[in-house]
Amino acid sequence: MSNRQHNFSAGPCTLPLEVLEEAQAEFVDYQGAGMSLIEMSHRGKHFDDVANEAMALSMEVFQVPDDFSVMFIQGGATLQFAMLAMNLLKPGLKGAYVNSGTWAKGAMADGGQYGDVYAAWDGADNNYTSMPTSAEINLQDNTRYLHITTNETIGGIRMHEWPDVNVPLVADMSSEYMARPIPWEKFDLVYGGIQKNLGPAGMAVVFIRKSILETTNQNIGRYLRYDIQESKGSMFNTPPVFPIYMYGKVLKWMKAQGGLAAMEAAATEKAGIVYSAIDGSDGYYNCPVDVACRSHMNAVFRLPTEDLEKKFIAEATSAGFLNLKGHRSVGGCRASIYNAMPKASVVALSEFMEEFKNNNAA
Ligand SMILES: *Cc1c(COP(=O)(O)O)cnc(C)c1O
Repeated sequence: MSNRQHNFSAGPCTLPLEVLEEAQAEFVDYQGAGMSLIEMSHRGKHFDDVANEAMALSMEVFQVPDDFSVMFIQGGATLQFAMLAMNLLKPGLKGAYVNSGTWAKGAMADGGQYGDVYAAWDGADNNYTSMPTSAEINLQDNTRYLHITTNETIGGIRMHEWPDVNVPLVADMSSEYMARPIPWEKFDLVYGGIQKNLGPAGMAVVFIRKSILETTNQNIGRYLRYDIQESKGSMFNTPPVFPIYMYGKVLKWMKAQGGLAAMEAAATEKAGIVYSAIDGSDGYYNCPVDVACRSHMNAVFRLPTEDLEKKFIAEATSAGFLNLKGHRSVGGCRASIYNAMPKASVVALSEFMEEFKNNNAA
């Protein structure tokens, strides 16, 4: 498709063209059923196969051990901010949070509606440009979990090393799913909205340690109970049929690309190309993030002035590099380079950046 642009959107974001075309080809008449998948019963054979395959692929390509289950839950990552606290916090138990930026703050605020929460580390002092080492995380007694945001999508920072602490970890991996392996033994819960790396908006993929389902709270609405979602195979009510279907296709695509190791290697390489363009610009482009904590998914950068940033974004847009504007809360520029972003697009962006600098540097 010749009009396809380089889409650096932070989410929803670019998806593999092959996947989009495959879905298009089978959309109107799904496998000879005489109707589309989104028109048929979610309890029928066609959708059953789709859901089962998406679940099996989740366990396989994320390399999840048997003592975890996967769930598909509507409401995105934001609902999980509240839902995890509703299920896990009890009187006398606290939720600890690494406050690494916008999303961590949201998770802590929502968690605080359902129990005691505290910041075990706070990045405010350095304007959220770094992540803590394990030694810098201060846990209190009676802490149920430590919540981390492995990649802050807005700040462009990444938790470079997994915390080594004596409480279970809970992670929001919305913007880093399938871009790095997960040390499952440290976790009780891992969640993320799928619209950053894995599919269209509309649901979160949640991995839960099975053994904790015996102790999760039951005095909450049934949809919000992890034990019910898990035991019903995420089919307690009508599931998000289309997101599950697309997500399954994206996972299949990732598996064919070489799976998690290949995705991680590609992410590291693509991020390296963007950061090289920044670092090789003699300070024309500047990334404010601690080098060790630079995101592999969302590269943030500034130009010498806000006027130049505006000009950069306008000229980039005309040249087919879309959605490079930083989040409205922080300004600047941001290139989101998720798993489906072709390397060629990232190379083209780095060339555009150099050219813009040569044309505009004083
Ligand atoms: C986008 C994002 C969210 C919010 O996701 P929704 O699915 O829109 O609720 C939460 N956390 C992180 C890290 C994100 O990138």
